[in-house]
Order: sequence, then C-alpha cells, then structure tokens
Amino acid sequence: MIEVEDLHRHFGGFRAVDGASLRIEARSITGLIGPNGAGKTTLFNVIAGVLKPTSGRVTMAGEDITGLLPHALFHKGLLRTFQIAHEFSSMTCRENLMMVPGGQSGETLWNTWFGRKRIADEERALRAKADEVLEFLTISHLADQRAGQVSGGQKKLLELGRTMMVDAKIVFLDEVGAGVNRTLLNTIGDAILRLNAERNYTFVVIEHDMDFIGKISDHVICMAEGRVLAEGSLADIKANEQVIEAYLGT
Ligand code: ADP
Repeated sequence: MIEVEDLHRHFGGFRAVDGASLRIEARSITGLIGPNGAGKTTLFNVIAGVLKPTSGRVTMAGEDITGLLPHALFHKGLLRTFQIAHEFSSMTCRENLMMVPGGQSGETLWNTWFGRKRIADEERALRAKADEVLEFLTISHLADQRAGQVSGGQKKLLELGRTMMVDAKIVFLDEVGAGVNRTLLNTIGDAILRLNAERNYTFVVIEHDMDFIGKISDHVICMAEGRVLAEGSLADIKANEQVIEAYLGT
C-alpha cells in the first residue's frame, strides 16, 4: 500500500531520516520501533505530508504522493493522528468527532441560505456517525464530556475516533501507549485490531511498549540513525543482534 524509497529529511546538516526504504502492506499492522532520535516521528511526518522530504519518494498504491499536503492525503485516506488541539479541548467528545472535515455542505453561503434543511439533515447524520464511533470505541459515556477533561488514554481513543469519521485506509499512530494505563491500552489495542479486521484499516504504530507491539502488530520495523535497521516478526526483531545493540539492550 505504501512504499518509501530512499527517503531523506535533513535539518540543516543533521540527517534525521537518512535513506529510509520500506514497504507497508495493505491491511497490515506494522509496529515501528527504535531508540529515541532514530527518525521515526520525522518519517511519519514526511509520509503524512507534515514535513517535506529532502529527497526520496513515497508512493501509495503505486501513485506518487511525495510532498502532498495533509489535506490531500486525508482525501486519499492516509491519516496521521494528532493530539486534540487546545482550541478543541472545551468542546465535547462528540463535537470533536463532528468537527472532522467530511463532505458537509454547511460551509458555503449558498447552503447557509438555501440549504437549511439539508444542513440539519447532515448534522443529524454526523451526530449519529459520531455516536456510532463512540460506541465502537466503548466510550459512549464520554459523548457530552469536554475533550480537555478526559484521561490521556481516552484522548488517544478519541484521536483514533477522528479517523473513523472519514474513510481512512491507512492510519499512522504516534506513541499510543505513552502514559496510558494498562486497561485503556488494551481497549486501544482491541480497537486497532477490530478496525483492521472489520474495516480493512492498515496501521503503522510507533510504540515503545513491546507487549503492546506483540499484541497488535504482524510486522515490525526497527529504525536507527534515520534508516531501517531490521524488519520481520517481533520474534525475529527481538533476536536480531543489531537491534539488541542499538535499542533493546540499552
Ligand atoms: P524518534 O521519533 O525516533 O525519537 P525523531 O524523528 O523525533 O526521532 O527525531 C530524529 C532526530 O531529528 C532527533 O535527533 C531530533 O532532535 C531531530 N529533529 C526532529 N525534528 C527536528 C527539527 N524540526 N529541527 C531539527 N532537528 C529535528
């Protein structure tokens, strides 16, 4: 589904991503691991259009998507989750989901004047969809709570929920486990597995928690110094001498 070829992203003279090449198979769940500073987040940001690459190529289903902006990638179903922005924290969880741009027609003046009924219908449909997403994620009870007041793990579920408001094909998740308790981490893991099995989502997940990686991923890529150091099953990766030296042994 995604092919990254000899990707570079330099910051001044520093090579954060330094010739990374990898493939993400459709409907896979790939765990992306590696020491801090390996270039994982920078790689994510280049693929997701947040940062321009210095050089290299990214293709999605054979189509060159290198350097496309996030909104263009969003329409192709490629999404990177982001923390709920400060300005959305006073809105409820349901409203946060309803804010995800979709095909609503409420934005133009024409529709404001002439399409009131349609807007009302669409708002009802959006609300129903948001409620369905909350239920899927087992957080219906948070629908009317302000997003800024829910726990870190619940926020992660909400971030995942935002991808469900559009037709996501591939989702890049950055450190879902950081500061999240075990119960909620299991809920997040279950949601990822169900989205993969029931809705054909492909995932790439940056995570340090090896138990979590073992539970959800079918393929693991270890990065170090801006490149792919090793890839394979988690068992292969754990037994790899270079990975032990660069990451697991530290
Ligand atoms: P990881 O996610 O694997 O911890 P990052 O991609 O966050 O790694 O960072 C890789 C390296 O690139 C780090 O040394 C970091 O300091 C550097 N880096 C990341 N973003 C920038 C930036 N905007 N400007 C300068 N250096 C950066």
